[in-house]
Amino acid sequence: MSFFETRNITKRFGGLTAVSNLSFSVEQGEILGIIGPNGSGKTTVFNVISRFFPLTLGEIYFKEKRIDTVPAHKICDMGIGRTFQVVKPLQRMTVLENIMAGAFLRTAGIGKARHKAEEIIEFCGLDRYTHREAKSLPIPLRKRLEIARALATEPELLLLDETCAGLNPKESESAIALIRRIRDTGVTIIIIEHIMKVMMGISDRILAINFGGEIAMGTPKEVANHPEVIKAYLGDAYA
Ligand code: ADP
Ligand code: MG
Repeated sequence: MSFFETRNITKRFGGLTAVSNLSFSVEQGEILGIIGPNGSGKTTVFNVISRFFPLTLGEIYFKEKRIDTVPAHKICDMGIGRTFQVVKPLQRMTVLENIMAGAFLRTAGIGKARHKAEEIIEFCGLDRYTHREAKSLPIPLRKRLEIARALATEPELLLLDETCAGLNPKESESAIALIRRIRDTGVTIIIIEHIMKVMMGISDRILAINFGGEIAMGTPKEVANHPEVIKAYLGDAYA
């Protein structure tokens, strides 16, 4: 069994099938990219993994345990962290406090949580903003804070949803460098990104979906040259 696996997962919202019979696996230490046009079901995949919504059909396994049946609050405990496409740090709290809030998952001690948060702040290059309120940060830094907060929960699997969306090329570069550094610490990553170029550079393998179902799976090069992928992205932002 792989480190992480979905088996024939389907998610329906009423009559709409957002995720359709999707199976994929991720090996430990790997970066798996998921691409697809807007509305193709990418975020819904994360939402069913993190038990935001119950699955309609299928099974999900993490470290050989079935996780689609455990309560939502257990998912983070078990070592799966995530960020959100629409960033929502606790606005009135500082960077440090936001990250400490994540660290409290693993420790009840304020000193320990603070120490952990400070380490992560440095790792994520947020040191100049430690005592700034989250709401005063520009979007690229808020996205970085989201990642930092997720890291504070000490995930073994990290789900990143459109971390580079809305960033300029230079900001994207530095976000990608951070994601690589996170992987180098041993964290397994599934990353969703709309922009093909970003995904090509960072993913070990890419899963391409459309209408909730797989259209291609393979190395970045294989997927980028796949006729179904080219078709799905035609007339879309194939950038
Ligand atoms: P992506 O992240 O690839 O842009 P989403 O997973 O957000 O796509 O959405 C896939 C489809 O599921 C879309 O048609 C969207 O409108 C629908 N959808 C997502 N979340 C919900 C929800 N909570 N209720 C109803 N429909 C939803
Ligand atoms: Mg999305």
